[in-house]
Amino acid sequence: MKFKGKTVLITGASRGIGRSCALEFARQGASNIVIGYNKSEEQALELEAMLREAGVNALALKADVRSASEVKLMFRKAQAAFGPVHILVNNAGISGFALFTDITEEMWDEMMDTNIKGMYLTCKEALPDMISEKDGAIVNISSIWGQVGASCEVHYSASKAAVIGLTKALAKELGPSNVRVNCVAPGVIQTDMLAVVDPEIQEELKEETPLMKLGNPIDIAKSVCFLCSDEANFITGQVLGVNGGFVI
Ligand code: NAP
Repeated sequence: MKFKGKTVLITGASRGIGRSCALEFARQGASNIVIGYNKSEEQALELEAMLREAGVNALALKADVRSASEVKLMFRKAQAAFGPVHILVNNAGISGFALFTDITEEMWDEMMDTNIKGMYLTCKEALPDMISEKDGAIVNISSIWGQVGASCEVHYSASKAAVIGLTKALAKELGPSNVRVNCVAPGVIQTDMLAVVDPEIQEELKEETPLMKLGNPIDIAKSVCFLCSDEANFITGQVLGVNGGFVI
């Protein structure tokens, strides 16, 4: 029961990696779990019901992470229900494939607003309580492509590299307040995000992965929970690659 008494807020928890994180935090005893979602209301409410049945105080809250007012409202509702958020998992994200010369300004802004500005907005809301309580853990989800760059994904790669920069700088600033900030950089994980990738390319990615397999959301969820737990209480500012050896 590692997370007994803790309130965890996960963005993008309606599907994929975020959903798996919510289930794993519940399995490891988190008392209160906020399921952040944007479009997938039905899936978020289903997860909320499932967690409540398992005895967790779960609350699904809609917030487009690009919107300062929606993010603020999500935090106000979460704090009203559960008090301070102790653990923030910045997972919500989008991907996109295009030649660099075909990336429009709108595509660029949508990518940056979702994948990096969203983290700025959620951290701003979570931090006053974490700093005053001198207790907090933040995990930001980056990507292997933020570490090594991907052809035809320049905007995605740039946004995910920014996540690493945000993590390291914020960890330095918040260390004296006992707030830890870390990053998980997943490899190729089987979620809806991967489902749009050509099966042949998926096969190639599998072959390029030293462990010769693709990852599952639970592989990421377990790493996120580890970084948020007391077992990691001397770990901050780090990028944990969970990628089957894709980036070594
Ligand atoms: P996914 O299955 O497509 O789920 C994406 C999640 O993000 C959904 O819950 C979605 O919520 C939420 N989201 C998207 N835009 C949002 C917005 N504007 N506001 C709030 N929530 C928003 O993707 P996934 O594979 O689980 O990816 C999760 C994270 O892992 C992302 O940051 C992704 O970049 C990263 N990642 C994934 C892989 C991979 O291979 N799958 C690899 C490396 C990194 P709604 O559906 O409710 O809108």
